[in-house]
This record gives sequence, C-alpha cells and structure tokens, in this order.
Amino acid sequence: MYIDPHIHVVSRTTDDYEAMRKAGIVAIIEPAFWLGQPRTEVGSFKDYFSTLVGWERFRASQFGIVHYCTMGLNSKEANNEPLAEEVMELLPLYVGKEGVVAIGEIGYDDQTEAEDKFYRLQLELAKEVDLPVLIHTPHRDKRKGTIRSMDVSEEHGLDPQMVIVDHNNEETVKEVLDRGYYAGFTIYPHTKMGSERMVEIVKQYGPERIIVNSAADWGISDPLAVPKTADLMRKSGIPEDHIKLVTYQNALTAFGQSGQMDEQDWLNAAPLDQTKKMSGNSVLRGGQTPRVEGPSDIVEN
Ligand SMILES: [Zn+2]
Repeated sequence: MYIDPHIHVVSRTTDDYEAMRKAGIVAIIEPAFWLGQPRTEVGSFKDYFSTLVGWERFRASQFGIVHYCTMGLNSKEANNEPLAEEVMELLPLYVGKEGVVAIGEIGYDDQTEAEDKFYRLQLELAKEVDLPVLIHTPHRDKRKGTIRSMDVSEEHGLDPQMVIVDHNNEETVKEVLDRGYYAGFTIYPHTKMGSERMVEIVKQYGPERIIVNSAADWGISDPLAVPKTADLMRKSGIPEDHIKLVTYQNALTAFGQSGQMDEQDWLNAAPLDQTKKMSGNSVLRGGQTPRVEGPSDIVEN
C-alpha cells in the first residue's frame, strides 16, 4: 500500500486513477494550488475549493482511492493582492470540511512582500484551527526560500512537527530534518529530483520524517512516481520498513495530526461501486459497465 501525499488529480485522467490503484496507491492528498491560468474572480477559488472536497473526492472513490486535500492560497496568486484578500475571507469556510488535512500549499514563489504577507496570515489560520501546514518551497532560490519559510513559521510559533516542508533536494534536506520538520520530496520525471536521487537521500539520511510524492499535475509529471520510487528502493536494497515509512507511514503520521485522516478510511472502505452517483452524476458514460468489487479486492503489496 502507498500514499501519494501530493498530487493534483483534478488535472489527471481516469486512466491515471486506474493505474494508481493498480500500483497500490490507497490514499492521496490534493493540495490546493495554482491552475496554470491565473484566476480573476474569488468565485473561481470557491468552486475549485468545493471541487476538492466534493466532486474530486467522489471521483477518486469511484476508482478505489481515498482522497484528502489541503486548503490554502498558493504563493503565485498571493501576488494579486485584492483577490488574495477575498480568498482569505473564503478560506475559513473550507478549512473545517471533511477530508481537509492541512493548510497548504502555502509559502514563497518569487519571495515577494505580498507572498510573505499571505503566508504569515495562513500560518496564523493554521494555528487557529490546529491543522498541519504544507509548505511549497520556491523552485528559484530554493535554499534561501526554504530557510526563510522555516524561519517565518517559527516566528509565528508553529511546531515543526506540524509542518511539512515540500519539494526538498540535496541542498535543503539536512537543515529541514535537523530543525525537526517533515521533509517532502517530489519525484519529477527527467529532471531535478528523480527516483535515483531519492534512493541516495534515504540511504544517507534514513527514513525518519521523509515523505515521497509525485506532485503530478497538468505539467509533465508521473502519477506513479511513489510506487516507482518504492520499487527502485527495493532493488537498491533499502529495507522494506524504511520504504514503508517514506511512501506511506510518515505521510499518514504527519497529516493524520489533522484528525481527518485515518488508516481505517481505506482498510475498512466500502467496496468500489461505480453505480454510485453524486448529485445525479457518475463517472460512467453511456453504455459503460460499472465496476463493482467485493471487499476482498483491496490491493495489498
Ligand atoms: Zn503542488
């Protein structure tokens, strides 16, 4: 069993869902993020947030995967200040919904003043509602942005145990772990963090508080990055209990602090039943045969 604790499935296909389930992914977390096209109205955020706790959660369940999400204003769109103010008013309505396991992904993109302002406001929100925080670290000036993210989080009094710092690499991992944070790693095909480098990091730092994810979205990315990395770890001689920690248990421990994510959610899930509908809508198209499975069909590996 695997958890992919960072994947933007709204932009993935049903083929992806089927492949993920077949590969042993039982649960996923979808962080609220940027859609590529900048939003111009607060209503677009509202409908997106509703999708994350509504339709997408249902759609995942139709492929045998338990879907959770994080709520937040992403750093890129924090730079549209008037709109960002409106999103901040909207967020409290969503952070308490079922299946919301953190505030995120928040943090810095270009490390502007506006990004800093809304990052801090959302750290305060996380404290208020007692949810973990998922930090998106910038792709440019990564090391500086990562350190600043942790400094500001500490300035606001957050416990590092409640914070997952994501998109780490070899330059950031040591400090993030030393300071007591969870360290997320995104496995990007063909670039930056590949599975081979992830294997080396786990060999060097061990499995404690390290979390592997795909961050698969509408760009070139791989929704099977977590199971594929686990396979490579196996071939490289990393012990099975270490693999379980970095591809399953650590994510569950970190985001489970929300009180919204429990292993029983998938171990005792109702059997997959594609005859189900949400508001009268199903994932089936005319004439397709629904898949209906018994409890014994749960993937084990
Ligand atoms: Zn993301």
